[in-house]
This record gives sequence, structure tokens and C-alpha cells, in this order.
Amino acid sequence: MDAETQTHPVNLILLGPPGAGKGTQARMLTEAFGLVQLSTGDLLREAVAQGTPAGKVAKQVMAEGQLVSDEIVLAILKDRLDQPDTGKGIILDGFPRTEGQAEALDALMLDRGAPISAVISLEVDDEAMVGRIAGRYTCAECGEGYHDDNKPPASEGVCDKCGSTQFTRRPDDNAETVRTRLGAYHMQTAPLIDYYALRGNLKPVPAMAPIDDVAEKLTQIVKEVSDG
Ligand code: ADP
Ligand code: AMP
Repeated sequence: MDAETQTHPVNLILLGPPGAGKGTQARMLTEAFGLVQLSTGDLLREAVAQGTPAGKVAKQVMAEGQLVSDEIVLAILKDRLDQPDTGKGIILDGFPRTEGQAEALDALMLDRGAPISAVISLEVDDEAMVGRIAGRYTCAECGEGYHDDNKPPASEGVCDKCGSTQFTRRPDDNAETVRTRLGAYHMQTAPLIDYYALRGNLKPVPAMAPIDDVAEKLTQIVKEVSDG
């Protein structure tokens, strides 16, 4: 299956702790299959940058590494879901993160007649996530993600995708906040693994492997759920 031959919209959730590779893999699936990446982290950072009322509340919470309230996150997600491009199929990256969000999502997707096709759980070791987050940076122009050791650009200081020489690092990507974010993941988000396992659409994927190997597994899953 590719973007041309896709049989019906595929709606995916990428589940995993900070640093698991959700954003990296979502971008790959966007390029390979034309799915639309919906990252609540990106949407919240936009709201913070624009200084919206929700962004003002979220700013401090995000800096501390805690979860933003379900109310704010759901409002932001609904707005984005309402845009017409999401009909092609979506990849939810960083959402849902609480059982309340998962239940709200079930209702939203039921309303849209667009059920979740698969929930991909990226299985990683917590300790390695600290190094992944500490070394993460992004092209300021096109958003391509890099890592100091694991995924440097082919030509040092130049984005592989768009040629820009400007890169950014997130203010919350520091060792202290990462610990809080991993704690929030285990307390509030990890229970969703059972939530989706009970509904029968959980696909666990070992994600300590190199980026391309994980990408291959995810490509296989998208093909299966799209054809099935
Ligand atoms: P998430 O969106 O889950 O927080 P990212 O996709 O931003 O995680 O990945 C975190 C960092 O780890 C990035 O710098 C990325 O380049 C790197 N990375 C992602 N997947 C892997 C992998 N399988 N092996 C090594 N490094 C990875
Ligand atoms: P991320 O970009 O996914 O690493 O998210 C960055 C930060 O945004 C998190 O540490 C939370 O503060 C906030 N955030 C992103 N998505 C959610 C969500 N679904 N629920 C609550 N908070 C979120």
C-alpha cells in the first residue's frame, strides 16, 4: 500500500514514553502513506508561541514536565481534527495520554465514523530515553528531527530535508524535566496499554532497534491494517 493505493483511511495512535520515537516514526509514516501527523505537543507549543489563553496556561505545566489538563488538550485536538485533511487518515503522536483523553477520543472518532485502526506501543527502556531526549534537536525550518549521536544530518549543520542551517532544542528537553515526564508517563499514560489491549487493537513494537528497523515494522503494520 502507498498513498495512491490505500484502500481505506488508517487512523493510528503512537503510544510510548518521551523519546520513544513517536515523532520520528510519525514523520516517516506521513511521508510514506500521506497520513496526517497530529502531535498534541506540537499543537500546544504553537499555542504557547501564539500566546493564546490555553497556551498561557500550558506554558508553565509543560516547562515542569507535567501533563496539561484534559480540557485544554481536547479542545486543541478537536480543532485540529475538524480540519478537512484529517479524513485521509491520522497518526496521533503524544495523544491520548490519560484514560479521560482515550475515552473522549473513542467518542470523537465514533462521531466521525472513523475508528482507530491500530494502537502502536513503542517498547523502550526508560534509562535510554534520557540520552535520546538530551541529544534531540529539530530543524527550525521544516521540523525534521535529529539526534547528536543517533541521527546527525548527513552534512554537519545542514538539514537533510530542506538545507536549512537553523536548528532548535526544546526548553523541556533537559535531564530534570525528562525524569518528571517519564514519571507522568508511567502514572497516567502507561495504563492505556491495557486499555487498548482489552479492546484488541494494540500492536506492541520493540523500539530500541535502529530507527530504520522500527520504521520497517511500522510500515508492515500500516499495510496490514490498511488491507485488512
Ligand atoms: P518522541 O516523539 O517519542 O518523544 P522522538 O521521535 O522525538 O521521540 O525521538 C527522540 C530522539 O531519539 C530524537 O532525537 C530521535 O532522533 C532519536 N531516536 C528516535 N528513534 C530512535 C531509535 N530507534 N534509536 C535511536 N534514536 C532514536
Ligand atoms: P511532547 O511533545 O509529546 O513530548 O509533549 C510535550 C509536553 O506537552 C508534555 O510534557 C505535556 O506537558 C504536554 N502534552 C503534550 N501532549 C499532551 C497530552 N495529550 N496531554 C497532556 N499534556 C500533553
